[in-house]
Amino acid sequence: MDDCIFCKIVKGEIPSKKIYEDDEILAFHDVSPQAPVHFLLIPKKHIRNIMELDTSDTALLGRLLFKAQELAVDLGCGEKGARFVINCKENGGQTVDHLHVHVLGGRPLDWPPG
Ligand code: 5GP
Ligand code: ZN
Repeated sequence: MDDCIFCKIVKGEIPSKKIYEDDEILAFHDVSPQAPVHFLLIPKKHIRNIMELDTSDTALLGRLLFKAQELAVDLGCGEKGARFVINCKENGGQTVDHLHVHVLGGRPLDWPPG
């Protein structure tokens, strides 16, 4: 998608602090961190949101979540844990229309969200 910020990050047209990359997945630090650890994982393929997942994306999403677990541990969240979040559309607070998983850790987080 030409006008998608995260597709531009995938293509290197917008810089990012990358944590991990392979053929299908990119992980990078959030530009506006809300916790000491706050990074995003995205499929390189443009999927707008979790409502638009297809059954053919099952393996990709499984890999994405296992990578989220692995990187959270690598960044020091293994012992005390972290929050793994997927916002979706307007009511879910999604601001970038390219599917992404937030991982937030390094401090206790409130629940429920406001
Ligand atoms: P959403 O609200 O859609 O779930 O989250 C989008 C996230 O993307 C926000 O936390 C925001 O800070 C982050 N973000 C938006 N633009 C950029 C960018 O250009 N670079 C990086 N690294 N993060 C971004
Ligand atoms: Zn995109």
